[in-house]
Amino acid sequence: MSSPTPIHPPQRFLFGPGPTQIDDRVYEAMSRPIVGHLDAYFLQLNEEIQQMLRVVFGTENKLTFVISGTGSGGMETAISNFVEAGSKVGVLANGYFCDRMTEMAKRQGADVVRLEKAWGEVFSDDEAAEFIARERPRTVMYVHAETSTGAMQKGKAICAAAHQVDALVIADVVTSLGAMPVQVDETGIDVAYSCTQKGLSCPPGLAPITVSPRAAERMNARTQPNRSWYFDLKLLNDYYNLSHRYHHTASISLFYALHEALALILEEGVQNRWERHSRCHAEFVKGIEALGLHMLVAKPEHRVVNLNTPCVPEGVDETKVRKTLLNEHGIEIMGGFGPLAGKIFRIGVMGPLATEAHVAKFLQRFGETLKGS
Ligand code: PLP
Repeated sequence: MSSPTPIHPPQRFLFGPGPTQIDDRVYEAMSRPIVGHLDAYFLQLNEEIQQMLRVVFGTENKLTFVISGTGSGGMETAISNFVEAGSKVGVLANGYFCDRMTEMAKRQGADVVRLEKAWGEVFSDDEAAEFIARERPRTVMYVHAETSTGAMQKGKAICAAAHQVDALVIADVVTSLGAMPVQVDETGIDVAYSCTQKGLSCPPGLAPITVSPRAAERMNARTQPNRSWYFDLKLLNDYYNLSHRYHHTASISLFYALHEALALILEEGVQNRWERHSRCHAEFVKGIEALGLHMLVAKPEHRVVNLNTPCVPEGVDETKVRKTLLNEHGIEIMGGFGPLAGKIFRIGVMGPLATEAHVAKFLQRFGETLKGS
């Protein structure tokens, strides 16, 4: 082969659903020399990551750490540890990632029952409670911030109804963590998992997870071992926190990155960070509506603040818009898929790009591109 291309990636503004823009401090942290994955230095950083994650998750859960894998690895960890073959699982299904959860639960041999909504809609407290009381599942699953639609599903009533029938609740907070309040303990979530490349503004590759004492008890009482060895939380807890016996070789550089990203979040203050994302979302919606577009998710209180889904106006070719934005302005956004293919744009405003100045610049470029399309 001819000599490999030197790595000089193009300058991009990542306004998609993820990966998102990363602070220079995170890049710098990743370039520091690696140590061994059982080195005392790594174990100390890992301990600090766990402490910072508890703040961001809004939890006191002792079992709070990071899985080596992307958000889907977090999903697989939650499902393989807390869904047993032959058990009943109730899924509140209103988007693509609910379907992925369903598929994973089926592969664990679960009997999956679903309450369905059109993509972009959310379940009312009563609908969720009635479904759970009727089906009496062992585990309930929902997606807090559905990245395929931009809809935000509240969890408190789901958790209350699930606990009434002694079910555990698994919540996907892949897109919301770090950008919106997740509040695991206050909401009553038993198991929540996320990723690093969205609200936490880190490169992809790790999946934070947190497990309530109630869920840990259920896990310890399992009669069959987890079918997945790699995602077995008991083995992982032993490696990270107890004996520190080798399980797998954690990605040291990604842990450095996550440590720095979480430090940045804590320096800003989680509340301030949520407010910043909320403010920028409001600015974004105002600007997008001024351009004549409307949001797929009709009610403002049902919207994910860091992932906006305006509808594609009549006669506009969304693929062409996205290509022009990328090729002429280095701006990445995404389109819809599944039932929303060609119908929505998916535009993330998060992390370092969640500022009034970036939103204004984006809206200007987006408006010009729409006009020319
Ligand atoms: N869950 C949700 C809500 C997501 O948006 C995504 C990715 O976009 C995932 C799970 C899977 O995460 P990953 O692509 O990091 O595996």
